[in-house]
Amino acid sequence: MFDVLSIDEDKVKHIMDTRSRLYPLQPRGLGTAMKEGLVSYITRLSEAHCTDVGSLVSYECSPNFENPRIYSYQSNKVNSSFYKDAYTINCFGAICTDMEYALTKLTQRSDISEMNLNKWVFTPRNKAIVKKQKHWCIQCYSEWEKEGKALYDPLLWSIELIKICPVHKTLLQTSCSGCNMQIPIINQRSLLSHCIYCFKSLVSVNEVRLVESEDELLFQVWLCDSIGKLLMYSKEFVDTSSICNALQSFRENYCDNNDRVLSRLFLLENKRRQINAYCRGAANPHFNLLLWFCYVLGIELISVCTGGEFTQIERKPSELLQDSKKYFMLESKWSKIDKEIVREKLMDFLSNDHPRSFNSISRELDIQESYLRKMFPKESKLLTAKYTEYRTNKKNEKMRLQKEKIEIVLNDYYQANGSVPTISMLKKLLGNSHVTFKQELMSHYHDQIKEFVEKKV
Ligand SMILES: [Zn+2]
Ligand SMILES: [Zn+2]
Repeated sequence: MFDVLSIDEDKVKHIMDTRSRLYPLQPRGLGTAMKEGLVSYITRLSEAHCTDVGSLVSYECSPNFENPRIYSYQSNKVNSSFYKDAYTINCFGAICTDMEYALTKLTQRSDISEMNLNKWVFTPRNKAIVKKQKHWCIQCYSEWEKEGKALYDPLLWSIELIKICPVHKTLLQTSCSGCNMQIPIINQRSLLSHCIYCFKSLVSVNEVRLVESEDELLFQVWLCDSIGKLLMYSKEFVDTSSICNALQSFRENYCDNNDRVLSRLFLLENKRRQINAYCRGAANPHFNLLLWFCYVLGIELISVCTGGEFTQIERKPSELLQDSKKYFMLESKWSKIDKEIVREKLMDFLSNDHPRSFNSISRELDIQESYLRKMFPKESKLLTAKYTEYRTNKKNEKMRLQKEKIEIVLNDYYQANGSVPTISMLKKLLGNSHVTFKQELMSHYHDQIKEFVEKKV
């Protein structure tokens, strides 16, 4: 007979301890440039457990956080402000570290930390490095769907500067084709393949969009390649001094060890002191700036970050470089140079056949509404007027159709019954008994009835 008492308690404890609480879902694309991001993994993990992201985070992950981030009143749910910063799960910071720890413990997987940028010790921890909104490639999605593979969002798609899918070289989707909304990268209700607002599938329908200029496409391809190699790097980044070594050696070899010449080479003459600090190792350049250095010098990002041998591949002439500077967003986001671009975009919206609200335009451009109104008063007024006119026309058209419908129903009723229906009867016949009629429709009804009564007399 099976003797329960003879079971070694330690052994049972060991078995229980080594079993994972959650299903140890295999992350997708590990070891490649297209490896999965941690946010995507959490979403897939919740789907694998037939629950929503909100429940998974609140009831499973949060108890394992250093700080559970729970509502202070009687509740066991993490507060909703958690989701405002939760996009940083893909890069670094307290939420990211908490989540990495919790998921490692819950799934007993050793590769959870591969899915964020926590490893990137060479760059200042600026969270603007990743996107807050979901970006996805419909071609990748539909190919995976056809092949019967799980959909996921590669970490690379969530890097702020990346605009294209590295596989298909087409622009990533930024908003739902159903409701035109941008989708937060993580939310209590996050789903990989559907819009959280209108539940439309994100897999197909949208047309594929291309990068506007050949130049920008080349830049995006370079960017995907550079960052992709960094994501594939399997070892730890230990040497944080390799960046300052690289800069120093370039200053020495190409610029007579002169900061002024080096900063001129980078087309950043106003940042001479800053560049000197990077060379000394007193500070680390932020990610975009680091990319810019590599781009200008024609060297590989991965070799600069890992302290490897770096050789110049090709240097672009500086007149071409001036143009590419904007891609790196080195100046504050919309600097004087970019004002013309913003104006052009506003004019594009103005000539578009489908008018948009000013609010949605400001969201799409990611510029505050008040700023736009102040800097581009003429364009803003025109855009607002156009949208108001569009709304009014739409409203009038709707009213006209409703009136027409009322007339038809009244007529039919009169033909059949020889009398006119009451308001509630009319609503029932129109198929919307619960709505209240607008004043205009009410008077239209009364006018019509009058006509019928007069006819009868
Ligand atoms: Zn793709
Ligand atoms: Zn939608």
